[in-house]
Amino acid sequence: MHAVVCIKQVPDTQELQVDFDAGVIKRASVPLIVNPFDEFAIEEAVRLKEKHGGAVTALTMGPLSADEALRTALAMGCDAAVHLLDEAFEGSDTWATATVLAKALEKMGEYDVLFFGKATFDGDTGQVAPRVAALLQLPMLNFAAKIAEIDFDGKKVTVERLLETGREVVRANLPAVISVVKEINEPRYPSLLGIRRAKKVDVPTWDAAALALEKDSVGSKGSFAKLERIYRPPARAGGEIVPGEPVDAAKTVTEKLIDQGLI
Ligand SMILES: Cc1cc2nc3c(=O)[nH]c(=O)nc-3n(C[C@H](O)[C@H](O)[C@H](O)COP(=O)(O)OP(=O)(O)OC[C@H]3O[C@@H](n4cnc5c(N)ncnc54)[C@H](O)[C@@H]3O)c2cc1C
Repeated sequence: MHAVVCIKQVPDTQELQVDFDAGVIKRASVPLIVNPFDEFAIEEAVRLKEKHGGAVTALTMGPLSADEALRTALAMGCDAAVHLLDEAFEGSDTWATATVLAKALEKMGEYDVLFFGKATFDGDTGQVAPRVAALLQLPMLNFAAKIAEIDFDGKKVTVERLLETGREVVRANLPAVISVVKEINEPRYPSLLGIRRAKKVDVPTWDAAALALEKDSVGSKGSFAKLERIYRPPARAGGEIVPGEPVDAAKTVTEKLIDQGLI
């Protein structure tokens, strides 16, 4: 069994800061963490390895600092990690990000299951996993809340997907792409031994050339989405207190809503 977990390093949202003039999220001065949904993906992959044997590889595309995220994944039980690192990857939208990840997965070759978080805490598009699945022509099982059955010999997986209205049971062939929600498990804390081991692991870096990618096909040049501006929504004006008895006040509110064409 070989599972690959795609993880992204994100700013700790409680500390998120935006440079409104430059129109970018300030990444350099804020604490960075593994995207919380990705911790559930790591945990699920490591549990599969503990049950079935095999290995788990963590994969990220990100700047130098993203090495820390990979070390966390290794400390949680991943066996290997790959860092996709190249200035040419900067400014990638979700399309370009998925292109780079898919190329790296093609280079890795052998895998049974690809895990993702359902979305990130910063970009929050949820587009990367389905796009990778489309590029690699693999089944996409998103919002997985439980892996009900997995048969690596028979190459079949059954997951329960979390929907607003309940759960949906879906079966697919392996290899498959699975994005997970927080209901799937309780991620472990890295052990002291794990942290020590993680520091010693040799993490290869792959750049655009290593992935046989033209530099212009990724990063800002290879992106379809262009960021126009980033702004804080205007503060809401204070509400109006309607005086009087509840019945009269309700009548006044209703008239106001009708006047404004809201009802
Ligand atoms: C014009 C433009 C410029 C941008 N420039 C930058 C930039 O310079 N730097 C920057 O950090 N972001 C940049 N972004 C944001 C960038 O596109 C997203 O961070 C990235 O594509 C992931 O999208 P998301 O965060 O919505 O991930 P989602 O689709 O919500 O993520 C789902 C899952 O995919 C996996 N995943 C997502 N990203 C990665 C990754 N990088 N490596 C491995 N797995 C991953 C994780 O498992 C994650 O849980 C830019 C976006 C635009 C539109």
